Amino acid sequence: MAHVLIIGAGGVGSVVAHKCAQVPGVFSEISLASRTKAKCDAIAAGVAKRTGVTVSTHQLDADVVAETVALIRKIKPELVLNVALPYQDLPLMDACLEAGVDYLDTANYEPPELAKFEYKYQWAYRDRFQQADLMALLGSGFDPGVTNVFCAWAQKHHFDEIHELDIIDCNAGDHGQHFATNFNPEINIREITQRGRYWEHGEWLETDPLSWSMTYDFPDNIGPKKCFLLYHEELESLVLHLKGLKRARFWMTFSDQYLTHLRVLENVGMTGIKPVEYEGRAIVPLKFLKAVLPEPASLGPLTKGKTCIGCLLKGIKDGREKKLYVYNICRHEDAYNEVGSQAISYTTGVPAMIGAMLMLNGTWKGRGVFNMEMLDPDPFMAALNLHGLPWEAVELA
Ligand code: NDP
Repeated sequence: MAHVLIIGAGGVGSVVAHKCAQVPGVFSEISLASRTKAKCDAIAAGVAKRTGVTVSTHQLDADVVAETVALIRKIKPELVLNVALPYQDLPLMDACLEAGVDYLDTANYEPPELAKFEYKYQWAYRDRFQQADLMALLGSGFDPGVTNVFCAWAQKHHFDEIHELDIIDCNAGDHGQHFATNFNPEINIREITQRGRYWEHGEWLETDPLSWSMTYDFPDNIGPKKCFLLYHEELESLVLHLKGLKRARFWMTFSDQYLTHLRVLENVGMTGIKPVEYEGRAIVPLKFLKAVLPEPASLGPLTKGKTCIGCLLKGIKDGREKKLYVYNICRHEDAYNEVGSQAISYTTGVPAMIGAMLMLNGTWKGRGVFNMEMLDPDPFMAALNLHGLPWEAVELA
């Protein structure tokens, strides 16, 4: 029985609050804090209506360490579950160290002025979390998160060595909007407009943004879709933890309509992150763009279709070559019917709840800073099947 403090009342925060409320045997008390308290209150009302569970709500600027420390000391949670933005990762880790509570997030830190995510900032906290006898779990969403666990599970049960990894993220859903992103638009566009990056034979190689593509034939009647090579943060930790790895890449599907809009927005400078002077004020174009795009949380009732996110692994078992595809299919409509959110928020929020549950019930224990594949994948894989994200593992010829 434990008290969780969820920080961030967006699309993902709403799913996490609902999913924690579905497991009262672990999450006996749920608090939700965010910059805009009205958003916390709206989520709490949805959770009360669907589950009868009360979520207490708080206003918080998570960039201010002292504010978070004061809230933690007042309400005394056992875990801080960060589903605000990556910019808040470091101040929230500082607050957890100061107040003495465990930490979990779903996306790694990136400095606001540099669109480049790297684990070095958060890995630098390892000694301080160890010395404080605390645990920080990084990247407990779907990708990163479940994809890391799929790899750890494949390594544990299916391979002696994994030589090639392709993580393939397909959103075959449609929200009917001209242009909208399924998670925070600012973070999403920063990620997609970066240079591509993959790992081969021990070194990182770069590609121009969205310049490499392949077509993958997805299961469950989704069919063939064009996927683009991107850099994604889980590659950085997985290349350290998978035995025998020779190549690791990440791919994501985008529709032609999405890419056309993105290209135009880039060409006119709307995706820039450097401030520009406008009528005496400094404005960051991408932040302004975010303000006019639909909020991810508003796409729930509009989005139809499926997501399919998985890992395609090639390697050796007992001297024999083996190819395994481990994946989950999630239907946007099912996610909406259950918790009022689309599948991207759902596929992120469920693993965040599961990571928190395993930490709070003592199944995943540790001192220091952990990426998901460093922990035993079996209880997490079992929990995915129980809590709304069932997976399949298929051996391919
Ligand atoms: P949203 O933009 O919908 O929600 C973010 C929330 O954080 C908002 O409620 C926002 O408040 C709040 N927030 C922002 N800054 C602060 C602050 N300084 N203090 C307190 N609250 C703050 O984003 P999503 O829910 O779509 O995404 C949440 C996180 O999940 C992101 O970090 C994203 O990168 C990550 N993610 C991870 C995925 C994975 O698979 N690992 C996939 C998808 C997302 P306000 O409403 O006032 O702006």
